Amino acid sequence: MSSTRNAVSSMARRISTAASVLFSSDDAKKLDSTVEALEKASENIGDFITLLRASPKLKRGRKDQTDASPAETADDREIQELTMLAQRGVQLKKHIDATLGSGNLRDAVRLPPGEDLNEWLAVNTVDFFNQVNILYGTLMEFCTPATCPTMSAGPKFEYRWADGVQIKKPIEVSAPKYVEYLMDWIEAQLDDESIFPQKLGTPFPQNFKEVVKTIFKRLFRVYAHIYHTHFQKIMSLKEEAHLNTCFKHFTLFTWEFKLIDKDELAPLIDLIESIVSVC
Ligand SMILES: [Zn+2]
Repeated sequence: MSSTRNAVSSMARRISTAASVLFSSDDAKKLDSTVEALEKASENIGDFITLLRASPKLKRGRKDQTDASPAETADDREIQELTMLAQRGVQLKKHIDATLGSGNLRDAVRLPPGEDLNEWLAVNTVDFFNQVNILYGTLMEFCTPATCPTMSAGPKFEYRWADGVQIKKPIEVSAPKYVEYLMDWIEAQLDDESIFPQKLGTPFPQNFKEVVKTIFKRLFRVYAHIYHTHFQKIMSLKEEAHLNTCFKHFTLFTWEFKLIDKDELAPLIDLIESIVSVC
């Protein structure tokens, strides 16, 4: 057993111990088997976990929230940290299942029978946000104000940032600054309970789909920048298969629910047309 897998096993044990303290034994069992499946699902799980830990903006799944009280002691804090990690693991497992495990991504994006459309959009919005966060996170050291002074997607497309509230007039910023603004803005939407209610059964706002569409339009720009500016680097990191799978999943989902207007897709339209016609 490699040292990475050893470390994962030992962490899995610690997570399940932490889980049995915090959850009912049923939940702990589920978590335990999820961690086990997660461990089996990827040889590179250690790398994934490092990425997850390094990603400050990672969101927890909406349905996986617990009402943990503030940590009192170092032990409490450790348990909370492990619990967070376990919950992120559950999200990651779902992601692996949905994108890499199943043969047909087109089926995987469809609204499951009986599921509420807004709830499905909400859960997936969080997942795609996390996915793009991780992908961009692997490139952060290569996407700097020096390498990318503007947020572009090839020579024909350049994006300026405005959130319509604090920054009304679009400003030209470097790509990393743009992505920071963009991720902070999305995070604020996800944290706003009047838009993304945390309790099941709380109604979604009238303009929910509009907010979701804006989130996906902005996430798409990160993909467009990565493909146009950093694909060589992605190849040298041997991450192109992972990037392509993530983007294929993203494209099929946004296509299925008509979340991004066609004009916005122009920077990657050839790639998108090949995905939606072949898959
Ligand atoms: Zn860049």
